Amino acid sequence: MSNRKHFLIVISSPSGAGKTTLVSALLDRVPQTRLSVSYTTRPPRPHEVDGRDYTFISRDEFDRMRQRGEFLEWAEVHGNLYGTSRRMIEEILSAGCDAVLDIDVQGAAQVRKQFPDAVTVFILPPSFTELKRRLSSRGTETPESLERRLRVARREVLRYTEFEYLVINDQLDVAIAAVEAIVRAERQKRQRREDEARAILRTFDEQPAAGRT
Ligand code: ADP
Ligand code: 5GP
Repeated sequence: MSNRKHFLIVISSPSGAGKTTLVSALLDRVPQTRLSVSYTTRPPRPHEVDGRDYTFISRDEFDRMRQRGEFLEWAEVHGNLYGTSRRMIEEILSAGCDAVLDIDVQGAAQVRKQFPDAVTVFILPPSFTELKRRLSSRGTETPESLERRLRVARREVLRYTEFEYLVINDQLDVAIAAVEAIVRAERQKRQRREDEARAILRTFDEQPAAGRT
């Protein structure tokens, strides 16, 4: 395990902009990144696996977890409840990985307060029309939930200024490369590598300089 400081990578966007696609590419391409699997009261979509994509629970279970303070943050999004497990984040960081959170703008704001060094990335689609096309072609929404997600999107995009990074997901491979570059560069931040730097600097003290008597 490296000695550097591990961090949270928060990725937000309106539904359908491509967060899940980008997060999954990030997890594949960059070692030592792990997904924070959220809890939700939303029913699973076909192909979603319990415990991998989300942990699917009832509203009652969600309320119990919330009362016990088990969520680092939680929010109601499109009529369903979603929350980040405090324990899962602790496990990811203590395993020497960076935690990737695919959460909405309300959740991002809560995380930022508790983890000021979290890296925050907002994903924008190239246009509203393209967002609508992607959401419809994903085939996961009823006409009502599609309408609702698009309505919420108009509000969510206004909050892009709260984020440090902005990635426009037009051409997928370009957007993937951008997200990957952000994480790799963030890992090289000096503040995250002080322990390593000090350990290396100590080796400079221990050895006599060449050529000196
Ligand atoms: P989100 O997680 O933000 O709701 P998804 O990752 O599920 O979004 O993407 C929504 C749909 O758009 C999916 O069908 C996905 O395959 C598609 N998609 C994602 N990125 C692109 C892109 N750059 N160009 C075209 N389609 C995309
Ligand atoms: P979906 O139902 O499309 O999977 O997700 C809907 C929205 O909920 C997305 O914006 C997604 O990022 C967000 N979301 C997923 N998990 C969490 C979570 O744990 N907390 C918060 N605040 N939002 C979440």
